Amino acid sequence: NLANKLQNVFKKLRGKGKLTEKDIKDAMREVRLALLEADVNFKVVKDFIDRVSEKCIGAEVLESLTPAQHVIKIVRDELTELMGSTQSKLNLSAGSPFILMMVGLQGSGKTTTAAKIGGYLKKQGKHPLLVACDIYRPAAIKQLQVVGDKLGIPVFSMGQNISPVDIAKASIGAAKKGGNDVIIIDTAGRLHIDEEMMQELKDIKSEVRPHEILLVVDAMTGQDAVNIAKNFNEQLGIDGIVMTKLDGDTRGGAALSVKAVTGKPIKFAGIGEKLEDIEPFYPDRMASRILGMGDVLTLIEKAEQAFDEKKAMELQEKISKHQFTLQDFLDQMQEVKKMGPLNQLLEMIPGLNQKQLKGFNVDEKEITKIEAIIKSMTPEERANPSIINSSRKKRIAMGSGTSIQDVNKLLREFEQTRKMMKQFQDIDKDLKKGKKKF
Ligand code: GDP
Ligand code: MG
Repeated sequence: NLANKLQNVFKKLRGKGKLTEKDIKDAMREVRLALLEADVNFKVVKDFIDRVSEKCIGAEVLESLTPAQHVIKIVRDELTELMGSTQSKLNLSAGSPFILMMVGLQGSGKTTTAAKIGGYLKKQGKHPLLVACDIYRPAAIKQLQVVGDKLGIPVFSMGQNISPVDIAKASIGAAKKGGNDVIIIDTAGRLHIDEEMMQELKDIKSEVRPHEILLVVDAMTGQDAVNIAKNFNEQLGIDGIVMTKLDGDTRGGAALSVKAVTGKPIKFAGIGEKLEDIEPFYPDRMASRILGMGDVLTLIEKAEQAFDEKKAMELQEKISKHQFTLQDFLDQMQEVKKMGPLNQLLEMIPGLNQKQLKGFNVDEKEITKIEAIIKSMTPEERANPSIINSSRKKRIAMGSGTSIQDVNKLLREFEQTRKMMKQFQDIDKDLKKGKKKF
């Protein structure tokens, strides 16, 4: 799939170290093919590759220490941009009741999504009303009632013998009476776009003036989904898109193209048949998912922000000269903490899933304790722990709110760390001199 293919391209790049213009061109050719195979719109692919290539061939990337990382980051950022950069929310404050109209072809997932969005908004404290405007099949009204019941959301219907325009209109009064602050109108679709369906939707639109029209499209239909979106937007005018069945779509092409082609953002993603299987659409997360790399780039960015290279060099120097002190130890710990809570960092590592992480608890308390102990030491003690006798230990324990045992434990562990660091360095040196053979 797309993620695998892109990962292969990047693996090759990583293996190369320094990159030439030709390396980038070759890589871009492969990215282009991968995107086309994933059913991304041809024009969108062309523009995308042009933009990425231009950025990658800049001297900054080629001459950097980690050119492959730079290329991946550029691709990720451009993918995100392609899907709209930031999350596009419903503009719920546009009116009360807020009127949301769901449109789309038959089977795209309108009825299911209307209910899912209702459930999603209910969780946020809203009081939605679902409105049954698909009068052409008796089962359609029933379907909405069933899902409404499951979620505890009221459903407004007037049967099959009254026009959808009138039902939609009547629902506004019903919502006001029932204290509903959101109206979600489920409409009828067809297998293909036709005049009659469009006219009906236009009539509902002009009668109730919905605050937003969301088009529901099935991600599995690939390029068709994009063409449908273009068509609906031109004929009816839409405010956003819900891409359903993303759980089944391994190509991801529709999600990548639809914003670029229609100018309208994806607001929600349907990710399963169950009523809670909906999430707001986050372009950056989707880009990371397509690249198959968890949020590893966020992690790299955080690390880059937190550690500066000069400090790292100084540290190396100190270790080799046997000058690594408790103060350095404290500084190190604070550098790591700048990156954020350890649990959160672990979650970003690709391949580690939430379930595996559940039993894993990083003991932040322990770290806080160590910090407190070192902070209670004088600069002299930090630089030269061997002077810490029992009366000093007592003072440090008191000052840090810990026990003498805690202080001892830290000093022991620090001494071990220091020895280990020295050993590794010695091995390294010996290896370089060719003294020892492993
Ligand atoms: P409508 O004709 O547009 O109202 O479509 P429905 O809401 O009746 O949905 C059609 C089918 O798609 C149903 O079987 C739904 O369960 C299924 N469906 C809708 N959304 C999703 C989704 O995000 N993922 C999956 N796997 N199935 C979905
Ligand atoms: Mg339906």
